[in-house]
Amino acid sequence: MLADLDRMIQLQQLVNAAVEAQRAVDAIPDRIAALDDRLNSGREAVEQAKQRLDDAKQARQAVEKELAEVQSRLSRFREQLMAVKTNKEYTAMQHEIATAESEVQRLEDAILEHMLQADELTAGVDSASAALKGAEAEIARERGELESERGTLEGQLKSSGEARASLSASISDPARRLFETIADQRGGIAVVEAKDGHCSICNVRLRPQMFNQILKNDDLIQCESCMRVLYHDPDGGRVGETAAG
Ligand SMILES: [Zn+2]
Repeated sequence: MLADLDRMIQLQQLVNAAVEAQRAVDAIPDRIAALDDRLNSGREAVEQAKQRLDDAKQARQAVEKELAEVQSRLSRFREQLMAVKTNKEYTAMQHEIATAESEVQRLEDAILEHMLQADELTAGVDSASAALKGAEAEIARERGELESERGTLEGQLKSSGEARASLSASISDPARRLFETIADQRGGIAVVEAKDGHCSICNVRLRPQMFNQILKNDDLIQCESCMRVLYHDPDGGRVGETAAG
């Protein structure tokens, strides 16, 4: 293979890997923000569960207050019953007492309901808190993984930059200029494989004579459509692999 072509292929590999690594680095802040969102919604769920429990407690206290009032009214009625003078008054007072008694019953039932509900709401707070605790641990772990991923990627980018510089320096001036010009104009991709008689990136069909020439890998041949330098890989798909071939 032509030495310049071989190095240009390797250079393109490094460029592609660096683009991928940079994309992954750039995506990390959003991934961290997504973890923060998860944490916040877990905290919010706990707050809401506590608020529901609190509201229920207040509602129960209101019922208890009402019950105390009815009970004191009831004992007043019972005292008054001793003091009534007529049958009519007696019947009326008994009616008042019966009404108050059924009110007490109703309020006691309501308090029982509230107690059962409080058990459920307390369980809700407990399970939301447990879920939050689990999520916190998981999120901390994932955040740590993302930070170490970022460190690895940044290390890769740095060493890939150095490797690119030295590889670039080993390419002849015209070939390097050609690479840089095409890369500038074509989204960073200057060298691509020719496959099954086509340019693998713009898909244009190559003239058979040209394709035969490319198969030899002994010249810098550009796609007539996208202008990228074409090469043949007997194993297929060399650019894009991470290991230099
Ligand atoms: Zn092309």
